Amino acid sequence: MGKTLTEKYQGNIPLDTKYHVHDIAIKDKDDTFGFSTCENCGHIISNIFIIKGENEKTYGVGSECVIPLTNNGLELQEWKRLLARKKKFIKYIATEAKTVIWSDKHDTAWAYSVDVNSWQHYFRYRFSRKEYQDLIKLKNIKTIVDNRD
Ligand SMILES: [Zn+2]
Repeated sequence: MGKTLTEKYQGNIPLDTKYHVHDIAIKDKDDTFGFSTCENCGHIISNIFIIKGENEKTYGVGSECVIPLTNNGLELQEWKRLLARKKKFIKYIATEAKTVIWSDKHDTAWAYSVDVNSWQHYFRYRFSRKEYQDLIKLKNIKTIVDNRD
């Protein structure tokens, strides 16, 4: 006899509210911040879905627990795509990026696969400086500040 998802569910996070995915994060092995275990089942996770309930409480859960907790396949597909893109970018920064140029005035940065000394049109990624500046510093990538408008 088949049980419903909710009947099979056994976890630490209460089901008395609806959850939706609020953000995603990736736990890098060199990372010192962020979640590292699923708050629902306790497993060590590297792909973290940050879910938020109607009561505004947030939890970090893994890719298995997020399914019964959010119960929205379409929304989840979008977040998984975003997660995959983010992972690809982080891997690029960690293994291939040679130079990053960023602006202090704008929340923008450009990553290059080659050594450059000024902004060039052949950047590989354009991204949010604020979001990734810790990672850039951690990886010791050559960084140039370019503050022109
Ligand atoms: Zn879990």
